[in-house]
Amino acid sequence: MTDIKLPKGTKDLFPKEIEKWHFLEDKIKEFYSRFMYQEVRTPIFEHSELFSRGIGSETEVVSKEMYTFEDKAKRSLTLRPENTASLVRAAIEHNFIEEIYPLRFYYIGPMFRYDKPQKGRYRQFHQFGVEILADDSAQADAELIFSANKFLDEIGIKGLKLLINSVGCKKCRPAYLKALRKVAKKAELCNDCKGKAEKNPLRIFDCKQQNCKKSTEKFPRMLDSLCEECTTHFDLVKETLDGFGIKYTIDTTLVRGLDYYTKTAFEIVSEELGAQDALLGGGRYDGLFKELGGPDIAAVGFAAGMERIILNLSDYHKPKIKKTIIIYQQPQFIKEAIKIAQKFWENGYGAFVEYSQKKMKKQFQRANKLGADFAVILGEDEVKNNHLTIKDMKSREQKTIQTRDLQKWQKEYL
Ligand code: AMP
Repeated sequence: MTDIKLPKGTKDLFPKEIEKWHFLEDKIKEFYSRFMYQEVRTPIFEHSELFSRGIGSETEVVSKEMYTFEDKAKRSLTLRPENTASLVRAAIEHNFIEEIYPLRFYYIGPMFRYDKPQKGRYRQFHQFGVEILADDSAQADAELIFSANKFLDEIGIKGLKLLINSVGCKKCRPAYLKALRKVAKKAELCNDCKGKAEKNPLRIFDCKQQNCKKSTEKFPRMLDSLCEECTTHFDLVKETLDGFGIKYTIDTTLVRGLDYYTKTAFEIVSEELGAQDALLGGGRYDGLFKELGGPDIAAVGFAAGMERIILNLSDYHKPKIKKTIIIYQQPQFIKEAIKIAQKFWENGYGAFVEYSQKKMKKQFQRANKLGADFAVILGEDEVKNNHLTIKDMKSREQKTIQTRDLQKWQKEYL
């Protein structure tokens, strides 16, 4: 046995589980093309500065969880902990704003955070994310939230709860943060939160410690300090969500872990998930383009944790490809067997030849292990007369056809 083990917080995926990943990935592509989104793929690593500037150097993700390394030319690079900053970098660098329409993108891929691994929390995990660029309307927020909720509903995730809040903007947030800092510094908090009171007081709302939770009950809320523009925006988000007919809960403690959020913030949690209950989260990030040196444009998006969705997936459609094994009675018929298999592959059907097991009995055993639907049997008579004997592995019925009629049979049975 090898003494080299899987790195902590990572997972190997095997065929049975991969079926669920394929289902989920196909569904994302199909579902989001309905809303006119297109896929974007950015590199797994980026210059570290992208994340410290984009996400915020005081956030947990940047200050504690990044996989940062120096390459041979002494550049500081980081395995992406999330994909929004990369997408915005790419949009600025390649001038998406002028070139691509509509400015709606999704991505799917691995992210990396040096987090404490537990069920639903890994160091290499996967997100799919959806982003609408250059749109500052409340309707865009509501449509995005509706799509996220509908997506999880369509794939059969139960116990969904949609939480929304507004985290204000650069006009109204500074005064609120000043007031929050003042209260937080006097409050009874854990050591970790005491450290956040000055630098990042919003994060105290995320603390799971009972004492901190109790203290935050008395903290002022951003929602009560919104400027007129943010209030109007939030009201219109709610009104549009009501129009879609979806239920939501206003959670005034929902602040999200990344600094770039403005105005609308939301999360969808599953009541069936336990401690790591957030399936997806997102919101508006109107300042990020400018922060990264781009034009001053608004944007909204979310990221969903694919491992957590898969943990909750009870019913999914397996790919329905029928399996046929081509069985050859004598080792010298292997050439004919390959020719027949080729007629399956080229006609668009699934087939398998057991090259390493020349005995017919062994080949049948393998057919059962594979869960084959049909076996095409090539014996002496079949090869001599250009016939094929086809056995239905479930009903055990057998029939012989002419080789030239194979395509007709395939059309009827596969
Ligand atoms: P965030 O990018 O932190 O807003 O997270 C968005 C979603 O990604 C969360 O709601 C989770 O479902 C998922 N997620 C975040 N961090 C992890 C992790 N370490 N392991 C697994 N899923 C994660």
